[in-house]
Amino acid sequence: MMARVKGKNTGPEIAVRRFLHAAGLRFRLHRTDLPGKPDIVLPKYRLAIFVHGCFWHRHPGCRRATQPNTRREFWTLKLANNAERDARNVAELRRLGWRVGVVWECETRDLSTLKSRIAEIMNAAKGP
Ligand SMILES: [Zn+2]
Repeated sequence: MMARVKGKNTGPEIAVRRFLHAAGLRFRLHRTDLPGKPDIVLPKYRLAIFVHGCFWHRHPGCRRATQPNTRREFWTLKLANNAERDARNVAELRRLGWRVGVVWECETRDLSTLKSRIAEIMNAAKGP
């Protein structure tokens, strides 16, 4: 078995890439020089897309964003730090003139949900 780099080339991310590719959109992966290392970057639209796991990145209102019952303090702090870091990265990317879109893991399970989320992100990116 190949070792898996945590958070890279995950199922949800591959689903998004496959969709963008089918839609004829050109993209690049893992721009390590950008804040937060966006999973997918569409240079033409100066658009950075994060594919976020609902648990680790605290998808608001999502049933997957559970609060673990053990080591509560540890988890509360760790997960709050994750969300804070995400917000900082988005702010920094915007400051550098990037548009930022987020696709949540739970939105990649079903093609029509994924389709409408990406349409939303692309419409925002193509807008004024
Ligand atoms: Zn979710």
